[in-house]
Formats: sequence, C-alpha cells, structure tokens
Amino acid sequence: MNSKRKKILITGGAGFIGSHLIRSFINKYPSYEIFNLDALTYAGNLYNLKDVDCHKNYKFLFGNISDQYYIDSIFNKYKFDFVINLAAESHVDRSIIDPLAFVNTNIIGTINLLNAFKKTLKDNFNNALFYQISSDEVYGSLGNNGFFSEETAYKPNSPYSASKASSDHFVRAYGKTYGIPYIISNCSNNYGPNQFPEKLIPLFINNIFAGESLPIFGKGENIRDWIHVNDHVNAIDTIFHHGENKETYNIGGNNEFKNLEVAKLLCKIIDKKLENKVGTSDSLIRFVKDRPGHDIRYAINTSKIYNKLGWTPSISFESGLEQTVDWYLNNKDWLENIKSGKYKNINPKL
Ligand code: NAD
Repeated sequence: MNSKRKKILITGGAGFIGSHLIRSFINKYPSYEIFNLDALTYAGNLYNLKDVDCHKNYKFLFGNISDQYYIDSIFNKYKFDFVINLAAESHVDRSIIDPLAFVNTNIIGTINLLNAFKKTLKDNFNNALFYQISSDEVYGSLGNNGFFSEETAYKPNSPYSASKASSDHFVRAYGKTYGIPYIISNCSNNYGPNQFPEKLIPLFINNIFAGESLPIFGKGENIRDWIHVNDHVNAIDTIFHHGENKETYNIGGNNEFKNLEVAKLLCKIIDKKLENKVGTSDSLIRFVKDRPGHDIRYAINTSKIYNKLGWTPSISFESGLEQTVDWYLNNKDWLENIKSGKYKNINPKL
C-alpha cells in the first residue's frame, strides 16, 4: 500500500481496542490524518485518548454510524481514503437482552459506511481500503479439538456474533459486487488496559480489588483464546499496510485458557501484589447459571497471518495479565470514573 495516502476514518476509537489503535497510529504515522468517529455509547470513553487528543494529526468526530445522513455528510466533507471499522456493540450478554441495538450498529452502521465509502470514491478504488475488524465468534463453537481457519464456515451462535457475521458478509459482498477494496480480520478475545469492566478480565480485576464476587458462567470450563490488545493492534497495523485486497486474516494469541483458570490466575497475581494470604481471592469465585447459547471453545489457527505477513503475537498471557493488573492498580481513577459515571463528563454531548 502507498504510505502517502493518509485520510483514515477509524470508527469506535473511544472504545477499548480503537483507542489503543488510534494512539499507536498517531504516534507511529505522523503524516496520516486520523479521524476518530464515535457515538460515545456507554463503552466510549474519551479519557482513553486524553494523552494524544491534542495531536495535530488527530480529529474527533462525534456521531453515530447508524445515522446515514451524518455518515454521508462526513464522507462528503473529509473524503476518507481508508476506513478501519471498529465501532460496534460488543458485549454478548447485552446482545442477548437487546439484539436490535446490535443490528442497528453492527449491521446497518457498517452498510452506511460502505455506501458512503462507495459514493465518495466514485469507483476510483486505487489506494483505498475498507478494513473491517471482526471477531472469531462468527465461526461458532469448537469442541475439544481443532482450530478456526480462514476457511471455516461462519456459524454464529449469539446475536452479537450473528451481527458481526452479517456485517462481514456485507463487506465481502460490497467487495464482490461493487469492487470496493476490503480486508476482514477475525480476532480472538482481547484483554489489556482501558477495557470496559463488564468484560471478564477487567470485571474480575475490579471485583477482586473491591472484595466482590467473581461470577463464572456454568462450571467455568468454556475456553477462550486470549490476546493482548497491543498484539492485536500490531496485527491490525501489519494487515492494514501489507494485507492483500479481498483477503481475510485470523488473529489469535495462541493462549487457550478455561474461564476458571483465568479467574484463578488473576486471584493469584492480585493476592501476590496486595500481599494477601495465598488463596484469599479464590473465595470470591461463584458459579452462576450458564449464558444461553454459550460457546464451548474458540481457538485460532494463525498460520496464514504468520506465513503471509510474518506477524506473530509477542506477549505471553501471564506477563500480559500481570501488566494489565498493574495498569488497573495504577489507574484506579479510570475505574472510579466509570463506576461513578464521571467519564461521561468529557463527552461532548453532555
Ligand atoms: P468497545 O465496546 O470497547 O468499543 C466500541 C466503541 O464503538 C465504543 O467507543 C462505542 O462508543 C463505539 N460505538 C458503539 N456504537 C456506535 C455507533 N452506532 N456509532 C459510532 N460508534 C459506536 O469494543 P472493543 O472491545 O474495543 O471492540 C472493537 C471492535 O473489535 C468491535 O467491532 C468488536 O466486535 C471487535 N472485536 C473485539 C474483540 C474483543 O475481545 N474486545 C475481539 C475481536 C473483535
């Protein structure tokens, strides 16, 4: 890809992964113009970017990808050459309660972006790219053996994964039908600093700090592959610059753990850091009714991204978890701002 092209719309940049991606791009590529479009839902937090938000290659756009009129207007105004689409409703449990919110953002929102991108480029697709950030959950569930590869058929089981699968299909269809250059990457479970404390790892860190219970679905035997957010961001960077048009890449951390193992590891790390008696925090573990449609196991075959692009994860789960715990310990104000709702105070709509 021609590195001179630089008008990049990153959606969902006030969220967990988006904020790490934006920080990395702002610092690494000062010649790029980075636009962060975010609706600042409960998951959007501009504190995540307060260390970089005055950089001159960065601009925040407050808006909703489901709003076709707004999306058309910003594409008309800024004429983006590149889109990296991370904006999404991202929490499976919320999707079980309110699937339509996931349809509106994840599906309709993606289609609005594709339509606006197509109109702006006027079929001149040279040096342009629509990069869709997706999830391994679109593939459904594995048993004890096997891995998801790029050839695995989509078989989503939750409203969240169904909405992500659908948006991926639209991206691929727009590539095939209208010639829009696109790439899709499907990544496993991310963890790291700035993750909203409804997801397993930050929720458990927060609850252990507060001496509150650690709710584990079923028997805690569901297996996830974990990747540190910085490894995911590096993979996105590699794919964005070197990936091939109309290709899909799976991204994983090669770290399969049962949920119960993750909880116990966190208890061990935090007990050691807080100088608690060994085993203190394990007593907080509580088994709760399983999530409906709960996928048993996700695991990623990462050979394509390794063989074609030379990318491989570099952060081991144990060291990444320890670094993440340290971040939450050293940034208790970030957590407090979320718990009190204060983080909404720097959102422009309030
Ligand atoms: P997140 O929930 O932390 O952030 C999502 C961001 O999107 C928030 O800032 C939110 O305000 C914004 N947003 C939501 N609806 C919007 C709308 N209608 N218009 C504009 N902005 C909107 O999510 P995340 O964990 O950072 O995930 C980012 C992307 O990566 C998502 O597409 C998700 O499906 C994908 N992904 C996440 C993981 C993971 O483990 N977190 C793994 C694989 C893929």
